[in-house]
Amino acid sequence: MGKYIKYLIIGVVGLVSIGVLTYQYSDSAKKQVQLQALDAVHDLATNRMKKQAENGSTSVAAEFINFPIEATEVADGIIRVTGIGNIYMVPTDEGNVLFDTGLVMQVPKQIAAMNKAVPDNKLTHIILSHSHADHIGGVKYWKEDGVEIIAHDQFTEEQRYLKALEPYLHDRNRLLFPFMPEEPPTAEMIAYGGITPTLKVNEGDSYRLELGGKVMEVYAMAGAEGADNLVMWLPEQKALLSGDFFGPMFPQFPNVFTMRGEKIRKPVEYIRSLNRLIDLAPEVILPGHLDPVTGQEKIVAGLTKMRDAVQYVHDETIAGMNGGKTLYQLMETISLPPELELSQAHGRVSWAVKSIWEYYATWFHFDRTTELYGVDRGEVMPDVVALAGPNALLEKARSYNKADQPVRAMHIVEILLDDPSQASDPGVNQVRLETLQLLLDKAINGIENSYEIYWLNAQIRLAEGVISEVSNSSN
Ligand SMILES: [Zn+2]
Repeated sequence: MGKYIKYLIIGVVGLVSIGVLTYQYSDSAKKQVQLQALDAVHDLATNRMKKQAENGSTSVAAEFINFPIEATEVADGIIRVTGIGNIYMVPTDEGNVLFDTGLVMQVPKQIAAMNKAVPDNKLTHIILSHSHADHIGGVKYWKEDGVEIIAHDQFTEEQRYLKALEPYLHDRNRLLFPFMPEEPPTAEMIAYGGITPTLKVNEGDSYRLELGGKVMEVYAMAGAEGADNLVMWLPEQKALLSGDFFGPMFPQFPNVFTMRGEKIRKPVEYIRSLNRLIDLAPEVILPGHLDPVTGQEKIVAGLTKMRDAVQYVHDETIAGMNGGKTLYQLMETISLPPELELSQAHGRVSWAVKSIWEYYATWFHFDRTTELYGVDRGEVMPDVVALAGPNALLEKARSYNKADQPVRAMHIVEILLDDPSQASDPGVNQVRLETLQLLLDKAINGIENSYEIYWLNAQIRLAEGVISEVSNSSN
């Protein structure tokens, strides 16, 4: 990872010095030079990841870098340029409308591809689906004087807290996605944030745009990727530009929780948003990532199923709360009925139960007095380990694994990991590794939730790291 950082630093230093040299030139000349420099940083970072992928050290990177950046007309009069995040343009005789702007590193190539597909590129509006970095990276490069930037009323607040918590979010993301750079980018031209919408649409409201005879409607609707989700509707084509409203697949159980640690998504608002989309009855969905979904019947059925599934999990959680069930009982017992079965590859029902519980009741589960105090139970685990003896605990963990109860085994392993004298013990980490492998097998052969798999793989890397460190130092 050190090398990747070196490339980034070389690139960033290059960017900064080029920036200084071009300070005297016009804004657009400066932008051109910045785009060239940004593209060079992109290529360096990409080459680094290509090498990693060739060495087999990360498979995610391979998918990431092989994603083509190409323009195509995906629906009548709507141009998409692909990338990590798709960008869309609706050209009209009175100016063009851009929906989303991609990840900053890919902006130079996405702009070039779009300019080739739409040569008369007089931009009048930029519409942002939400404040995530893979959707707003290109704003400062696309924006000219007088271009309207339209976003959800909550965009500014979401952008503020994501920026304020950037180091924390970056560390968590990097554990899950080890190919990421060690630090969040700080150079001005690649840094996250700083976008001020010129026009905001309130939650539940819409904004109608008529340009060169084309009608576009922007709907502010809290979604599965935050409180600032906004979609664009083209009534003539019955096309929905959905940003990340649905997540990476359609249909699927939505992610009302994110492992990287953002605010919990509001379940009832999400259901209301789905109802608005069902009323529109789209014929095509053009998502922020991957390919269009077509077919009105299939789309409306999918939207309806998603709405009913979220409503079901929501209502069951409330019923359980009122019925005196514990959170863990509800996480174990609430599942989708067969007619509402949906992929949980992105959002997971048991995590939605926990999110809905904590959305309403917050963090005090009313179970244990110690919940109220800043002394973690881990602090007394060395006492428990000393009393029980580490070998007895390891034996217990192994027996839970043999009985195919790896979550119970992990509870025991975590007692040992809370004891500093045991945390670096290779034997403890060997049982930790076996337990994680069992959990991973279950995850892969079960609902295949991608975040669960990222997390378990990250923990496996940590356990393997401890084991190999100990064996190296004893050699
Ligand atoms: Zn996204």
